[in-house]
Amino acid sequence: MSWEEREILLVAKTYPVRSRSHGNTVCTAGILEDTNEWVRIYPIRWIKYAKNNLKKFVRFKAQIKKNTSEYLQRKDSYKIREPTIRITDDSLTKTQNKGVWQERKKILLKTLSNSIETLNEKFKEDKTSLGMIKPIANSIEFLILKPVDEIEIDVEKSTQYTIFGEKLIKVDKIENVFKYKFKCINVKCSTHKMICEDWELLQAFRKFRKIYDSEELEKQLRNQFYEKMIKYRDLYFIVGTHWQFPKFLIIGLFYPPKR
Ligand SMILES: [Zn+2]
Repeated sequence: MSWEEREILLVAKTYPVRSRSHGNTVCTAGILEDTNEWVRIYPIRWIKYAKNNLKKFVRFKAQIKKNTSEYLQRKDSYKIREPTIRITDDSLTKTQNKGVWQERKKILLKTLSNSIETLNEKFKEDKTSLGMIKPIANSIEFLILKPVDEIEIDVEKSTQYTIFGEKLIKVDKIENVFKYKFKCINVKCSTHKMICEDWELLQAFRKFRKIYDSEELEKQLRNQFYEKMIKYRDLYFIVGTHWQFPKFLIIGLFYPPKR
């Protein structure tokens, strides 16, 4: 399969992962403009996000091709030629613009699956490994698996360099401790407890940790990622399978305001 230029709407990015070969990399999920299919793009270096202003809901063109080594595990995985990335439209990144949420919703709802169970079936059929679902609002719970002051943030002290000789920017590694418990709109749903790797959630944790004591930190996280979401937003989960195990986890939150 050869490299092809495609246009992608960036929808979710996971928290950076430290990698010695590529620098800190981010796993990105988006929707192909021409076919409306979900794609997982990897790797894009963290530094590239900052430099190119690659925000959520930006549209960009880049040369991508199916990641054939991953194909048997996850059919939506693509490799990218990072220098070919160019932003084509950033109008959907700006929530202050009128109609932005409606436009985002119009695109994303076309990809909605009715349940995790459906996605598990699809994965068995053809290795579909990305999707979006809407949990039943009053079934959602936000779980912090251990006290926030015991969550370890691991930052390596020594300066590291990538194989390209670039200095590796330190990224705090945060354990998988944030989960959502929910039921999907499916009569046979047996309640899910899923790890959430959404970038905004983990960033907020890092930021709040510097400002608040542990009690207030937990309160603030719950307020932003649970109470406000339930009260003012329609919460959807963007889910993708783990790179090692055929198990879905939450890689992004989509939360248009309630009408
Ligand atoms: Zn379910």
